[in-house]
Amino acid sequence: MQKSITSFFKPKTEGAEVPVTPKKEKSAPKIITKEESPPEAKKPKIKSEDEEDTENIKMETSQDETKVQPKTEPKSPAAKKVTPMQLNSAAPVSQEEEENYDPSMETYHPLKHAYWKAKGVTPYLALARTFQVIEETKGRLKMIDTLSNFFCSVMLVSPEDLLPSVYLSINQLAPAYEGLELGVADTTLMKAICKATGRNLAHIKSQTHLTGDLGIVAEQSRVSQRMMFRPAPLNLRGVFQKLKEVAKISGQSKMTLVYDVFVACRLSEARFFIRSLIGKLRIGIAEQSLLTALALALVKKNHHEECKLNKVGDVYKDEIAETTLLLKTTYCQCPNYDIIIPAILKYDIKELSTRCPMHPGMPLRPMLAQPTKGVHEVLERFGGMHITCEWKYDGERAQIHCNEQGEISIFSRNSENNTAKYPDLIARSKNFIKKPVETYIIDSEIVAWDVERKQILPFQVLSTRKRKNVDIDEIKVQVCVYIFDLLYINGMALVTKPLSERRKLLLEHFQEVEGEWKFATALNTNDMDEVQQFLEESVKGNCEGLMVKTLDEEATYEIAKRSRNWLKLKKDYLSNVGDSLDLVVLGGYRGKGRRTGTFGGFLLACYDAENEEYQSICKIGTGFTDEDLKVHSESLGKSVISGPKSYYRYDSSLEPDAWFEPVQVWEVKCADLSLSPIHRAAIGIVDNERGISLRFPRFIRIRDDKSSENATDAQQVANMYQSQDQVKNNQKICTQMDMESEFY
Ligand code: AMP
Repeated sequence: MQKSITSFFKPKTEGAEVPVTPKKEKSAPKIITKEESPPEAKKPKIKSEDEEDTENIKMETSQDETKVQPKTEPKSPAAKKVTPMQLNSAAPVSQEEEENYDPSMETYHPLKHAYWKAKGVTPYLALARTFQVIEETKGRLKMIDTLSNFFCSVMLVSPEDLLPSVYLSINQLAPAYEGLELGVADTTLMKAICKATGRNLAHIKSQTHLTGDLGIVAEQSRVSQRMMFRPAPLNLRGVFQKLKEVAKISGQSKMTLVYDVFVACRLSEARFFIRSLIGKLRIGIAEQSLLTALALALVKKNHHEECKLNKVGDVYKDEIAETTLLLKTTYCQCPNYDIIIPAILKYDIKELSTRCPMHPGMPLRPMLAQPTKGVHEVLERFGGMHITCEWKYDGERAQIHCNEQGEISIFSRNSENNTAKYPDLIARSKNFIKKPVETYIIDSEIVAWDVERKQILPFQVLSTRKRKNVDIDEIKVQVCVYIFDLLYINGMALVTKPLSERRKLLLEHFQEVEGEWKFATALNTNDMDEVQQFLEESVKGNCEGLMVKTLDEEATYEIAKRSRNWLKLKKDYLSNVGDSLDLVVLGGYRGKGRRTGTFGGFLLACYDAENEEYQSICKIGTGFTDEDLKVHSESLGKSVISGPKSYYRYDSSLEPDAWFEPVQVWEVKCADLSLSPIHRAAIGIVDNERGISLRFPRFIRIRDDKSSENATDAQQVANMYQSQDQVKNNQKICTQMDMESEFY
């Protein structure tokens, strides 16, 4: 045990052959094989800036008039098939230009610097270079800006490549809910690398062990490779196509396909191709950053003729904000780039939401709730508004869809397709229909159900239910669905209608069936004593507390923004610190004594949605059984990385023994929250220099229904801090003193 766990900890790099962190461009590994470096005489003359400018102005004009017509409907990538070979057929591009492509430049011009514009097909290397620059960038805004520059070039030069560029940037092959995943086994990749480079497996394994990054090892191994023939350069859509093929096949052919592409990789292409296959790109671009970059690229594309790209952010602030909101809202109702990307290329952004409507079979983002710390806060937030309280069931969120063909799909909170997990629900899905319906989407919570006692069972019971290949006759844990919302009915989206109307339609079309389908127990009241009493009843009814929702005003189903129209009021709020927090595990500390051989403590962080970074909030070592620690060490051991991500904010005194990818979210409770000189959570919100930390944090459970971006965010941490009685009382005293000081 000791041995295997030791490997999670950061390697001491002495004697390591492969650098732990990716190298900067200047020192980036260069392939210096004879075959690959074109003879000096053949190299195109490098032009002066001025010369290049004049030529590019000419090219841009002709490009704009002939090839680049982003307003017309783009053909699907499949329509114009390009094989990796095709890049060779057009005029050669200078190696310097390719190697030095840098979309982070202040002076970046989307046409002038898109060195592939003559061919109209994006080289994979341009994307790899973009990733490389982003990986070396510290600030989130700069990362987004760099990606947007690349996207802008693609939109103007080779719009058909925008869709694969987007998918490759978030390492997806298709919409998340389709479940087409890469994640090729390390050994398969290692074998392909060995075959292509002539290195032996043991060497590749040991280097990967040291660096924790097979991508870098692959890139470095390519350096030493000498080739008889130089394979044709790769293009982006060809690589994307290959990755899709790799995901669909299995066995030996998988390795062969990987090998075919890998041998053609140049420079950092190898690093990112391998990382894509592993399923971890490590560039820190997640969905929200990607959407922001796309929106920014659209605005840059619209104004690149009259404004330098690096000034667009300042000059067109409002347009960027509007485009971003429109894009994010559309993505929430239609999380499918296959639909969105062609639409943004073809239509005005203002039409996007109607061009990409929600429809059954495609999960939309679920509306989330804000925590509160007691009934008084409900009154503060909703005073004077018409509200309803619903029991908050402790189970699994389920968005249940029925499409025109009558097919039922069930999606989790993270939009994963859970249909196969609940064949029993599908079998009885007709039972709760009252009035004939063609299509619908309902929002609900599935809970474990005690058939004999006719009562709700705790979440822990539900979590023992099988996830895959569930045979209806072998189901041991029965479930009941508590429906709380209706989002779509008979071809009509209801998300912009107020809850009172949605609920009316829900009750009109559906009915309760004992132990199968129930409506969430609800009480419409504005009397806070009644709310308090209802909260206590919900706890007696085995629920977590209440969800308090607006009925008429500000009562639409909010998916893009973090809404405050749903508040959760949990039973824990009755104790000192209201809600538990859902925190991301960033790193692990070696265990001592009884815990030797496993991680004994962990560094946790909240997520700052504003800056898209993880901010350290506490170290935790309490609440774990020995078994928990073993399980965590094993699962987190698979996510060890060689160093902290650029978007981890922490104090160097907290440096853990091993850093992890931000993959696990834990529910944690604490005694209280205090200002901290070391931790960085919510820094700048409550105090400019100090963050917030948790006192006496305790592990409760893994939240595998939450992705790390859905962890408690910095603003929520700040709200929790501020709503503590001591803090409030202190603030009152301070305000009182301020007022008094005005008089004296
Ligand atoms: P939390 O996971 O603590 O952020 O609480 C929000 C979750 O409570 C939602 O994602 C649902 O899965 C669940 N939930 C249970 N009952 C309700 C309800 N009546 N309305 C909305 N969400 C509910």
